Amino acid sequence: MPEDSIFCKIRDGQIPTPKLFENDKVFAINDINPVAPTHILIIPKLSKANIDSYSISELDIIASMFEVAKQIIHEKRLDNGYRLVINSGKNGGQTVDHLHMHLLAGREFSWPPG
Ligand code: 5GP
Repeated sequence: MPEDSIFCKIRDGQIPTPKLFENDKVFAINDINPVAPTHILIIPKLSKANIDSYSISELDIIASMFEVAKQIIHEKRLDNGYRLVINSGKNGGQTVDHLHMHLLAGREFSWPPG
């Protein structure tokens, strides 16, 4: 379990970063290198690399990630649309081995992704 990930350090306050949202399971921060006008990371406090590392009994955490996304989407009135992305593994373009979901909005996104 990558307990030393950059997101663990942010979670624990070792790297001071404003939290847009936080509860017992999940927190949300602005991405340090935004690729869209809104680029928020929704991160479980439990440090596991990917969804496939989660057990059935831990899936409530994944549900919480989507609950937080929904809350932020409403609060920020992202009525023109948004994109939720989870990059996983090398081919998925993951750079931080601690599960996280990108909430992107504020411009149009192309499909398929590169
Ligand atoms: P991935 O490429 O793994 O899907 O996404 C990792 C994201 O974490 C990247 O968009 C990157 O900009 C962001 N990130 C990496 N280090 C930090 C950091 O120290 N603070 C914040 N706020 N975001 C970070």
